[in-house]
Amino acid sequence: GRRPLLAGNWKMNLTHLEAIGMVQKLAFSLKETELEAAEVVVLPPFTALRSVQTLVNGDKLEIGYGAQDLSVQDSGAYTGEVSGAMLAALACRYVVVGHSERRALHGEDDAVVAGKVQAALRHGLVPILCVGEGLEVRRAGEHVAHCTAQLDAALEGLTAEQLTGSGAGTEAGGGGGSGSGGGVVIAYEPVWAIGTGEVATPEDAQEVCGALRSRLAERFGAETAGVVRILYGGSVKAANTAGILAGPDVDGALVGGASLDADEFAQICRTAA
Ligand code: 13P
Repeated sequence: GRRPLLAGNWKMNLTHLEAIGMVQKLAFSLKETELEAAEVVVLPPFTALRSVQTLVNGDKLEIGYGAQDLSVQDSGAYTGEVSGAMLAALACRYVVVGHSERRALHGEDDAVVAGKVQAALRHGLVPILCVGEGLEVRRAGEHVAHCTAQLDAALEGLTAEQLTGSGAGTEAGGGGGSGSGGGVVIAYEPVWAIGTGEVATPEDAQEVCGALRSRLAERFGAETAGVVRILYGGSVKAANTAGILAGPDVDGALVGGASLDADEFAQICRTAA
């Protein structure tokens, strides 16, 4: 089976000192067996990654970490950007790619998102590729077509080995989550459900996650599609986690606001374990 993945996207919150406190609290709240059953990951701002790495390594915490974005480029005159090589040097395992906030507020189109997926894979990072429709598209009933088109565009030129991480040399250096493979993680995040308190119904989440897996099966074969983890994100809280995760194609959650409360996020992780 696919090991559930719970990833806390902190967005632009928490200083490095606050980040240390948050990870300590999270690790203290979760039992070893829970951290084995579910993979727990935090996605702090760049400025906190070094502190989180030091804490996780020093105390051998079974908590993974990654970044919220990376540059398409590997190095050079790109003021303000952070490269995949830099994230790999911090032993990040994951990096979010194509979050709707990056697409909407920073002009990232499908070509940029595809370039970032490739950049992540070049450096042995697992991209958490976000797709999702806005309210207009949802009301028009075009959400499945919209999300599969975003998926196709972002995975342009990808091989099955890259998708699943089954090839050699695709493992990141660390960042916890040992033994859970590399490859690509997909996250379905309907824009109308992000930060709005309006969570998708379990049926909504399953419909799109199932459609994304079917699309992967068409392109890469059913066996390959069957090992890819597909997450749901958008107003996930402890109280709605069980319902969302009940969908057979929903393998975890990308959690924003609720991941900033260690007790709440621990409860979400426990529900998935
Ligand atoms: P919220 O959980 O705050 O709705 O955010 C979801 C999200 O965008 C995670 O990436």
